Amino acid sequence: MTAFAFPPLDRPSLAIDGSAQRFPVRRIFCVGRNYAAHAREMGQDPNREPPFFFTKPADAVTAGGDIAYPPLTNELHFEGELVVAIGLAGRNIPPENATSHIWGFAPGIDLTRRDLQRQAKAKGHPWDWGKAFDNSAVCGPVHRAQMVGTMQSGVIQVFVNGDLRQDSDLGQMIWPIPEVISFLSQSVTIQPGDLVYTGTPAGVGHLAPGDTCDVRIAGLQPLGITITP
Ligand code: MN
Repeated sequence: MTAFAFPPLDRPSLAIDGSAQRFPVRRIFCVGRNYAAHAREMGQDPNREPPFFFTKPADAVTAGGDIAYPPLTNELHFEGELVVAIGLAGRNIPPENATSHIWGFAPGIDLTRRDLQRQAKAKGHPWDWGKAFDNSAVCGPVHRAQMVGTMQSGVIQVFVNGDLRQDSDLGQMIWPIPEVISFLSQSVTIQPGDLVYTGTPAGVGHLAPGDTCDVRIAGLQPLGITITP
C-alpha cells in the first residue's frame, strides 16, 4: 500500500448501462472540431486538417442532473457529443486496429464558457478556462461496445427546453472515430479509462439557469441536465 500523506479523493467514474459496476475515468480528451457545419458556424474552414485535441481534468466529469451555472462566464454553451471510452492501452495505433481499444460509448455534453474561450483565442492564450472547469464534462452511462457496435453512424440530437437545437448524424464526423483514436495515440499513450469527446455538430448555443439540455444518440440511453443558479 502506498503511504499517502492524506487519503486521496475517490477516482471519478461513470455508470455502466446494465451493470452495477462503474467505469473508472483516467483522462478526458476532446476533439476541437469534427463536424464541418459546426466548424463553419465557429468561423473556421472545415477542411480535413488533422484533428486537434484539448483536455479536461478527470474530476470535471459529472453524470448529469442539476449543474450549477459556472463562475466567470456570461456565455455557457452546450455541445452535445458522442464519448468514446477507452478500454485498452496503446500508442501509434493504426486506424484499422483502433476499434479494439474501445470499451464503450456514452452520450456527453462538452460544457463551454464560450466567452472565455473566445478571449483566450484572441490573445493566443490556452483554452483551459473556457473548457476545463468543474462539471464541464457531462457524461451519461457507458454502453459496452459489444452491445452497441462501432457507433460510426446514427442520429445525434440535442434538445434545450424540449426544442431541437442540434440534429446531425455520427457519420458526419470529419474524422471518424478510428482515425481520432489513431491521431490521439500518436501524441500520447492512451490508457484504459480515458474518455474521448468526439466533437459537436452545428447548433451550439447558450444555457441559462433553469434550462434543461438533453442529448439523444441512437442506441444509447438519453442524457439530461438542468442548469441551476
Ligand atoms: Mn466540444
